[in-house]
Amino acid sequence: MEKLLKEMHDYALENDVPIIEKDGLRVLKDIIIKNDVKSILEIGTAIGYSALNFHTYNDCNVITIERDNQMHTLAKEYVSRVKKEDMVKLIYADALIFDEELPIVDMIYIDAAKAQYRKFFEKYEVYLKEGGVIVFDNLDFHGWTSVPQEEIKSRNLRQLVRKINAFKEFIENNKQYDYQYIEDGDGIGVVKRKKENI
Ligand code: SAM
Repeated sequence: MEKLLKEMHDYALENDVPIIEKDGLRVLKDIIIKNDVKSILEIGTAIGYSALNFHTYNDCNVITIERDNQMHTLAKEYVSRVKKEDMVKLIYADALIFDEELPIVDMIYIDAAKAQYRKFFEKYEVYLKEGGVIVFDNLDFHGWTSVPQEEIKSRNLRQLVRKINAFKEFIENNKQYDYQYIEDGDGIGVVKRKKENI
């Protein structure tokens, strides 16, 4: 597995596939171990690098959704090389329109289109168990989220940064969750669903 993960990492670097940073992986490993996470739903597989890493931390079951056929096909190849098809389930679909039932999980990891984080969150939080965690990667967006809007020249980037910042505000103020921001990697948001008071 170690060898394959290294190969995947090198492939991602050489081919500009955005994958989780080393610091980010370390944070995720801590979260998985601390919360004894056994099942994960991931939005945004790419080549399956984070999914396979997560699986190794606590022998987790991972279900992961990817809309890009080339990425999904590569992920399938990698997962089958280590014979982990039963532990890492790859779904080829646009997560915004996917409409099949999924199991309740201990953790949701959202790492797909940054402008859609709120939509992913609202669609998939129903699959989170009480007391479970949702993790959002790239909330810092390579430092752009702390740059004043008027200093961002590109209109598309400005819009994206505005959306990420609006999402951060929304999630920080969501009363059903406790929010924690971790500066490591590219900025990781972690929300933990509060237990219902009955
Ligand atoms: N989690 C991966 C890792 O760390 O190894 C990296 C994921 S990469 C940052 C984001 C991926 O999300 C891309 O491969 C992209 O095609 C996928 N994606 C973006 N929007 C999506 C959507 N609506 N549904 C499914 N996948 C999506």
